Amino acid sequence: MLRIGLTGGIGSGKSTIASIFAELGAPVIDTDAIAREVVAPGEPALTEICRSFGSDLLRPDGSLDRAALRRRVFRDPARRRRLEAITHPAIDERMQKQLAALPEQTAYALLVIPLLLEAGWQDRVDRILLIDCPETVQVQRVVSRDGIEPEDAWRMVRSQASRDARRQAADDVIENDGSLDRAELTAQVHTLDRCYRDAAG
Ligand code: ADP
Repeated sequence: MLRIGLTGGIGSGKSTIASIFAELGAPVIDTDAIAREVVAPGEPALTEICRSFGSDLLRPDGSLDRAALRRRVFRDPARRRRLEAITHPAIDERMQKQLAALPEQTAYALLVIPLLLEAGWQDRVDRILLIDCPETVQVQRVVSRDGIEPEDAWRMVRSQASRDARRQAADDVIENDGSLDRAELTAQVHTLDRCYRDAAG
């Protein structure tokens, strides 16, 4: 089974394009969703996070206040690394389990991994599909999707891998700068879907 790592910066359109692959029947494993699961109440990673960053990060119902955690680690690279050392192995383990549970005849699986390069997970995938767009477009989309301030959106964009680094690592690129309508994007996804099936089969 071919493992396709779908990556791209915040607001590039990863979820949008992953949903088109899913419509074509491709199995999609979403590490953003897994990242939320591994810090759910009762999970070992949540206990570790409380031990490292303070149990005041828990809400009264026992769930993690993810925004408060982000604020606590965002500006401090050492803390970010400490948090990733807790969450990344847990995410990886669950991702591998989901992959292993797919039917044997599956041609390829799409692994949506926003921080593929930042985490150094190139070896977890056989091909990298990049969703790319200019940073100004990322910022506009994130501001309107999440209702945050442009300067916060810029900070998030700048904290991630550069466009250059992503384009160098990519095997395939979907240019999602907004110039393509949904039908054109779907056509591109169809082409890639066929390529991946051929490559796998
Ligand atoms: P990501 O998952 O990479 O953070 P999303 O897929 O959530 O990005 O896209 C960010 C926002 O931009 C969403 O509100 C989405 O609807 C919008 N968007 C994505 N691609 C396009 C496009 N080609 N044209 C218009 N809006 C888009």
